[in-house]
Amino acid sequence: MQAKYNTRHSVAFERHDHRHCQHQLLSEAKALCTKRNTRLTRRRLQVLEILLRSHQPMRAYEILACLNRVESKTMIAPPIVYRALEFLLDEGLAHRIESRNAFISCDRPGHQCAAQFLICNSCEKIAELENRNSTVISEAASLGFSVDHAVVEISGHCAECRKNGS
Ligand SMILES: [Zn+2]
Ligand SMILES: [Zn+2]
Ligand SMILES: [Zn+2]
Repeated sequence: MQAKYNTRHSVAFERHDHRHCQHQLLSEAKALCTKRNTRLTRRRLQVLEILLRSHQPMRAYEILACLNRVESKTMIAPPIVYRALEFLLDEGLAHRIESRNAFISCDRPGHQCAAQFLICNSCEKIAELENRNSTVISEAASLGFSVDHAVVEISGHCAECRKNGS
């Protein structure tokens, strides 16, 4: 279990069986919540499932629209989505992509280290890289700087898109 997090590489840019991906990440998220004794309520789970549908980031209003499509009886208010997202972010089950003002599910639920993202400008897919030995973080530490939030977003074009000439 422990070695899995640092050796797994992101499949976001590769053709793959995404249902397997979804299933795997969902069960890891559930296991993590059980271990930490935090509650993955129905609403939080719904939001996570929506985020897990693709490797593209989603904006809060898009998540809200999806929820309202599932839930036909009552309209869901935006704060409900924000609260669920806040939980997922706090637990490391999702990340905020600042440059897109959007959210993405985490590739390795609950990892402790800095997240780095490769963002494809063509297909909008995002691959998460895990960098345990980030030079930025270690340089910050050598300056006596304590890091609260470390996210690096790198945009460009994925191999698949480059192959297709976009
Ligand atoms: Zn996938
Ligand atoms: Zn992550
Ligand atoms: Zn791409």
